Amino acid sequence: MILGGVCTRACRFCAVQDGTPQAPEQDEPERVAAAAHAMKLRHVVLTSVTRDDLADGGAGHFAAVVRAIRRVLPRATTEVLVPDFQENRAAVETVLASAPDVFNHNLETVRRLQAMVRPQADYQRSLQVLRIAAAWRPRVWIKSGLMVGLGETDDEIRQAMEDLHAAGCELLTIGQYLAPSTAHCPVQRFVEPAMFDVYARWAREIGFREASAGPLVRSSFQAGKLFRQARRTPRDDGDV
Ligand code: SF4
Repeated sequence: MILGGVCTRACRFCAVQDGTPQAPEQDEPERVAAAAHAMKLRHVVLTSVTRDDLADGGAGHFAAVVRAIRRVLPRATTEVLVPDFQENRAAVETVLASAPDVFNHNLETVRRLQAMVRPQADYQRSLQVLRIAAAWRPRVWIKSGLMVGLGETDDEIRQAMEDLHAAGCELLTIGQYLAPSTAHCPVQRFVEPAMFDVYARWAREIGFREASAGPLVRSSFQAGKLFRQARRTPRDDGDV
């Protein structure tokens, strides 16, 4: 997790501290790359707090970290899990220009619950960020994630999955929401484990290349494995 531990937003499902962050640390790209190198990572997932205080939302910093990792681990693959950059196309493209293998932005929940769960975010804005990334060439794998148990219906989950796929999303994670404290959104239901198998089946029916669904699945859950599975065979249009 880069760009500090203080977020400019206050999503009601998230335990990250909100407030006024400090300036990005200029040596962070090299330090993250050194850590990835020391751990001999094969697939590196980078995420951050949301930095609405920065002109580019931290996009340049993301790109610098991806490039620093590639310098020391040229065979490793990288996955960025980014904020919405307030739908700033230039910021999204700054990240894409660093050529991560996977571009991940979480939709988090269904359309009806967005304002309650992530009041400073927006369903359509998140979909638009994914659309921008899906149109980028050379292609990057597009990924997103949903939580369940926040009060949504299964029909709404299926609709969110269809909206994500229509936006160009190819990889999907779905996991059970767990409340970090009593001050956060309460859990409205614990989804039966068998239902996650149904979600994964829906994802395949809708056209996702790969989906990981289960009570403890999170955005980065077996991320390298999901990515390797997805690229085992060329896309329908022949692109790899
Ligand atoms: S933007 Fe991300 S880090 Fe910030 S509060 Fe929301 S989920 Fe947490």
